[in-house]
Amino acid sequence: MSLKPRVPDFFRTIAFRLTLWYAGIFSISSCVAFGLFYFLATQTIQDQIDQELMDKAGYFRTAIQRNGIVGAQNLAVIEAQAAGEKSIFFRLLYPTGEVFASSHMSYWKDVFIDHDIIDRLMKKRAPLLRTAQVTGHDQKARIMYTFVARNVILQTGIAMTSHSRFIKAFKTVFGVSMAFIVMFSAISGFFLSGKALSGVEAMTRTANRITGHNLDERVPQSGSGDELDHLAITINRMLGRIADLIKSIREMSDNIAHDLKSPLTRIRGFAEMSLLQEDQEGMEGYRTMAANTIEESDRLLDMINTMLVISRAEAGEGEFDFQFLDLTAMITEACELFVPLAEDRGICLTCDVQAAVAVEADSRMLQRAFSNLLDNALKYTPEGGKVTVSVSAGQKDACICVADTGPGIAPDSQEKIFERFYRTESSRTSAGTGLGLSLARTIARQHKGEVSVESRPGQGAVFTMRLPFQITNS
Ligand code: ADP
Repeated sequence: MSLKPRVPDFFRTIAFRLTLWYAGIFSISSCVAFGLFYFLATQTIQDQIDQELMDKAGYFRTAIQRNGIVGAQNLAVIEAQAAGEKSIFFRLLYPTGEVFASSHMSYWKDVFIDHDIIDRLMKKRAPLLRTAQVTGHDQKARIMYTFVARNVILQTGIAMTSHSRFIKAFKTVFGVSMAFIVMFSAISGFFLSGKALSGVEAMTRTANRITGHNLDERVPQSGSGDELDHLAITINRMLGRIADLIKSIREMSDNIAHDLKSPLTRIRGFAEMSLLQEDQEGMEGYRTMAANTIEESDRLLDMINTMLVISRAEAGEGEFDFQFLDLTAMITEACELFVPLAEDRGICLTCDVQAAVAVEADSRMLQRAFSNLLDNALKYTPEGGKVTVSVSAGQKDACICVADTGPGIAPDSQEKIFERFYRTESSRTSAGTGLGLSLARTIARQHKGEVSVESRPGQGAVFTMRLPFQITNS
């Protein structure tokens, strides 16, 4: 599998998508703003034209009142000439639609008389307006029908020149502006998203650089407290944890290799000696070799089993059978088993227990954990020393203490001794696997308890195992 970082396809990048979104939103908002402006502006222009038409109708009403139909005929000609005959026209009609007077109509000759509108006007009697295309000219006109006397209808129209000019100008401005807006929003969107995502790129680059060999490298943190900064902090924490795990896995595999090597070498040595023995010591010699081989193999198996118990328990797969048990009785019995060993080593073993203390625990596992603590105390305490076991009850938990008068443990080793395979320099000469305390702590933790040590070099050590009285429903 190639580890070479893959360069992402530009069109699939977040930067590209953000740019697209940015440009899209910017352009759509601009279109909406332009549309609104267009609607308001055209409406205003149209309102102005309509008002002008209404004003003209007003003049005609006055003219008819003052000078009759002749006055209106004259007014039509004069008004059209004054405004320009291409700008405005007037037609005076009877309700039948028959024209009886008009301004000069050569420009407006194709503007027909709409009988439907006249019919509607007859019913409503309120002015009616419409916008129409002037046939033959690239021009729109606003046309009004209204009564100016009882039986006289005025049809008047104004060329919408200003309206057309506005639309033309608007189209140009709109086109140029939109081109500029789309370009500007795409470029600025690209730069903005590039800037916002530059932290992500830095993280990707660092992550690509990090291999099994340079796990010490960290993603740069901006310190801004934003989401990317939080992500960088989280990734760095994760890298730290991975580095610690890899370190402990390396140490553990080194230790396993080292600790398996010695018994295996011894087993091989016994087998070799059996082969070379050539009957000098007879059957007895073979038996001794076989017994030694079995002993070493048992030690190996014990070590492997202990490792399995620890890993299974840590992975939450341990087969623990929790039941209420009398802790005092269990510890007293276990101590009795160790009395002969203590006597052999010339150590005074005392078991100081209070009244019965009951806890919920797996008795087999708890015995195993306690035996490791007591076995260590007897192993590391020199002849003539003292080992005291005590059991007491606190408010929430029971406490088992194993105190000895041995060499004690240096402060910097007091946490390390609970790691798998860790053994202090001075204890390397004595038998052991470095797994006992690790197992004791794992078992205690499976009981939601803890094992800790207090010690001053040269003044012995006190190992304390705390166990809550009840672990289910807690
Ligand atoms: P082991 O005893 O097989 O070496 P443990 O995990 O039981 O492994 O103990 C780890 C180390 O802690 C021991 O090698 C020893 O150096 C130290 N230790 C444990 N118990 C005591 C004790 N009571 N006094 C002094 N050192 C101890």
